[in-house]
Amino acid sequence: MVALGGNALIRKGQVGTVKEQFENLRIPIRQIARLSNQYRVIITHGNGPQVGNLMLQQESCDVVPQLPLEILVAQTQGQIGYMIESTLDSELMALGIGTQKPLVSLISYVVVDEEDPAFQNPSKPIGPVHTKEKAATLPYVTQETPKGYRRVVASPKPITIVEKREITKLIDMDFIVICCGGGGIPVIREGRTFCGVDAVIDKDLASAKLAEEVGVDIFLIATDVEGAALHYRQPDQQYLRTLTLKHAARYLKQGHFPPGSMGPKIVAAMQFLRGGGKRAVITSIEAIEEAIAGKAGTEIIRG
Ligand code: ADP
Ligand code: MG
Repeated sequence: MVALGGNALIRKGQVGTVKEQFENLRIPIRQIARLSNQYRVIITHGNGPQVGNLMLQQESCDVVPQLPLEILVAQTQGQIGYMIESTLDSELMALGIGTQKPLVSLISYVVVDEEDPAFQNPSKPIGPVHTKEKAATLPYVTQETPKGYRRVVASPKPITIVEKREITKLIDMDFIVICCGGGGIPVIREGRTFCGVDAVIDKDLASAKLAEEVGVDIFLIATDVEGAALHYRQPDQQYLRTLTLKHAARYLKQGHFPPGSMGPKIVAAMQFLRGGGKRAVITSIEAIEEAIAGKAGTEIIRG
């Protein structure tokens, strides 16, 4: 399983035109295409910048009805799934294996618990930045962040991936599966059906849950830094090549891996290994193949 960060499509400092997104995607997808010669592959992905842009589009327009967050997440699964799928298709063709490898992207739901304490304390900032005056007129909860006022939503824990059986079957049939985009569409059970809720699920935690549920061997988290560092952005910054579960827990507690960025990647890797996974690696988008070969990134190991 490769979990692609939002920066695989829109890099920091870019506006995120479709052309930019397609160009950026070639870097990880070319490597994944080559790896698919040897491995069965699941691709999951973030959606932060894309869902933010859709929210901004909504707020700039009052001609059509506003859509709830769960619908916007579904939209990003469609748009990003399409971009990944078409890029992967052309990279597989270039390798001459395009006709053998079927691929599919799935709209994915992830069950969360209505009683999750995160719902009492929405803390995940999403979407555009507003002035204090504008924020006061908005129909949802906002909070002051370092960038300005932003909407905040709950970020509950993923309980189970609704399509896990379908994904397992597709993998068994040798499909490359793109799923759990943006952490999945958060739903709660209502009797025998599901109902979408206003929340976002961390894509690294949702990926770890899916990895556990379908029995993934290698869990690779690809982002915009070379791995996990101690004293990140301090003069004594030190990237780690290996990190034991014991040290990971200690450094997490000491605040080396903050919530909302490196923290959930470390927690996801820990959960994956504790659930019986074989290898968990955090690496950069550029070094996916090297990390699989054990030559790049931070590998979290038992011990
Ligand atoms: P993604 O979209 O891939 O999930 P995030 O922005 O959520 O990316 O997480 C990656 C970011 O985590 C890096 O760009 C880096 O700025 C930040 N970060 C925070 N602490 C650390 C750390 N200890 N080591 C490495 N990166 C860190
Ligand atoms: Mg992230």
